[in-house]
Amino acid sequence: MPRIQVLDAHVVNQIAAGEVVERPASVVKELVENAIDAGADQIEVQIDEGGKALIEVRDNGMGMAPEDLERVFLPHATSKVGSVEDLTHVATLGFRGEALASIGSVARTTILSRTAEAEGGYEIRDDFGEIGGVRPTGMKPGTIVRVEHLFGRVPARRRFLRTPATESGHIKELMGRFALAFPGIGFRLVSGERQVLATRPGEQRLERIAAVFGDEVARDLLPVSHDEGDLSLEGFVAPPTRTRRDSRLEQAFVGGRFIRDKTITHATREAYRDLLPPGGQRPVAFLFLSCDPLLVDVNVHPAKAEVRWRDGQRVHRLIRHEVRKVLESSAPGVQAGAHVQTPGRGDPFDLARRSSRNPGDRPQAFDFGARPTQRHESAWSAERAAPPAVSGSFRGAAHVAEDVQEAARPAADFGTYEAGSPHAESPPLPESVGGLRPLGQALGTYLLFEGEDETLVVIDQHALHERVLFDQINARLREAGNLEVQGLLVPNVVHLSPAGVERLIEESEWLARLGWRIEAFGEDAISVTGVPALLRRPDAEEALLEILRLLERGDRDGMDRTDLLHHTVDSMACRGAIMAGDALHPDEALALLAQAEALNHSHSCPHGRPTRLVFKKTDLEKFFHRTV
Ligand code: ADP
Ligand code: MG
Repeated sequence: MPRIQVLDAHVVNQIAAGEVVERPASVVKELVENAIDAGADQIEVQIDEGGKALIEVRDNGMGMAPEDLERVFLPHATSKVGSVEDLTHVATLGFRGEALASIGSVARTTILSRTAEAEGGYEIRDDFGEIGGVRPTGMKPGTIVRVEHLFGRVPARRRFLRTPATESGHIKELMGRFALAFPGIGFRLVSGERQVLATRPGEQRLERIAAVFGDEVARDLLPVSHDEGDLSLEGFVAPPTRTRRDSRLEQAFVGGRFIRDKTITHATREAYRDLLPPGGQRPVAFLFLSCDPLLVDVNVHPAKAEVRWRDGQRVHRLIRHEVRKVLESSAPGVQAGAHVQTPGRGDPFDLARRSSRNPGDRPQAFDFGARPTQRHESAWSAERAAPPAVSGSFRGAAHVAEDVQEAARPAADFGTYEAGSPHAESPPLPESVGGLRPLGQALGTYLLFEGEDETLVVIDQHALHERVLFDQINARLREAGNLEVQGLLVPNVVHLSPAGVERLIEESEWLARLGWRIEAFGEDAISVTGVPALLRRPDAEEALLEILRLLERGDRDGMDRTDLLHHTVDSMACRGAIMAGDALHPDEALALLAQAEALNHSHSCPHGRPTRLVFKKTDLEKFFHRTV
């Protein structure tokens, strides 16, 4: 017997199934796409146990005649593509003729179908690869596909399925995308007894956005619309003030397919460039492109949401330009290069941005009136009889106030500098650290010091603090193996995509080492019961979302764990650090400096930006022509 064998159809189908059918949502995707291709305008999906027990898709499309049903489970059986030429202008969602053969090989799959002309319907079953005969059945025109016990006889694959809640979350997300892409079609999703999504045929795109994501998201969206003949763009974008912390509401569709495409994402971000507040905020944008099939190759991967552009630059330009135009015309004063002033950021007195309660009650760092004596008119009083509470790890003034209110909160102490606590007898602070005496804070961002060696030193407070935290976190991880947790009395619920929830929960042990305590909270949220003590709480959610983005990027680019940890620590240090614009008391400046002194490379932040600028007295003299 020769060693090389031609695989039999069943094995071929199982291999194809490995590509096409990853999880229940992929089955739903294939079946709903078939229903759309069949011209249905009403599509109903019923799932049980997240699709693991049952997936049933009913449509009122063109149906199949018995002679077509006979072939429906055969590999590469399709009515959509007949020749190689056809492949270059596929107008349907499916065309490989692989889906039903694959699904039939890994589940008990029954198809019932009736064309409009036929007297009655017919049914056929593929029971894990065993295809039965066609039998008559009674039904309305259209098609019903029932998929039971997915992977029931493929235990290795079944093990990879997640909880019903997670799997139904994926299906819900998928159905939402179909509902957005095809407003003409009425979609319904029922999970067990519960109706999860219901839309009527012939709705407007905006109604669909509201139906899927809620009225709040649909409010104030700006319409985008531009037609270049062979390429057109339609959609809705939110004004830059309505951003998100994750990219869930950045969705793009090409010819009705939901896709993830770097060109589109990048073009959208470019359109919002300099309009979004800093800190990784994402726009809200629903974009629908249609184009001549010749301009795009959808034949990239059967299950992946990817396309290949013939002329990516043209697509990029179209989106960037049209979205930008809409944003600029909607907001007076928003022009290329202009910054939208985001509330809070950049205002040293707005402590409310980070500390949610009673911002008005907070002592302000520059509250000179409160100090008993005031010998200087400079920005910082030299009177330091009552040093403010600076907990062990340096934290901004706003958070100090928060600590005082919540005395139970343990200090995020990494043991490098102890500047005193509000309750203990505070030891007096030194006048200077490392020969540097604080002069004041300039432009809300730079700390000015006078050096003993006749220098004027300007320090970027964020860059330096970031460096300090970065090194402290790494040292603590090296020595103790984990970061300190700040337990939350009231858990913080963070809403995410089901996939995001799953990914974070998978990493919960690793995250616990980094000071995060999280638990799944339903299928699309997590409950955060503890945050790294070094992070300011209101920033924690954002930090967690950023870690999720890093994880996803890591999965995609095959980042190794060391790199992942490095990036994560980096991001936590950045978020934990005082920001440009945070008002600082001189004692806090000294505390920060003292922590930095303990480090080796405090002269640059973890990104390599310098942290300090030194002017020598002689430089200044030269500049002012005091010396010849
Ligand atoms: P593809 O969609 O790539 O052609 P499938 O395996 O998904 O391959 O489907 C095979 C064929 O079965 C389709 O080409 C279509 O002719 C027919 N078919 C599948 N589902 C339906 C449906 N809901 N209504 C009518 N015809 C269908
Ligand atoms: Mg198909």
